[in-house]
Amino acid sequence: MQFKVKGEVKGELDIKRCDLPGLKIEGNCLNCGAKIREEWDKDAFNYPIAGEINDYYLPCHECDTCNIIKLQFDISVKVKGYGVDS
Ligand SMILES: [Zn+2]
Repeated sequence: MQFKVKGEVKGELDIKRCDLPGLKIEGNCLNCGAKIREEWDKDAFNYPIAGEINDYYLPCHECDTCNIIKLQFDISVKVKGYGVDS
């Protein structure tokens, strides 16, 4: 491999509305046990911090409780070479 990405993504990502299309969170409300499912495809996170634990507020529409979920954003990048234009 000719190119490598080095280092680690850390700190605030400076993204006001961070979406992760294709991912979703599912589970049971910590208060009433109702099933909760939320897709992370729009306005899911505000200014997430990479490499640290973030609080994510997951509301339950059955009991109006906000479940606080701990999330850590670990970001990796894969590099592939596709030749050189001449
Ligand atoms: Zn609930």
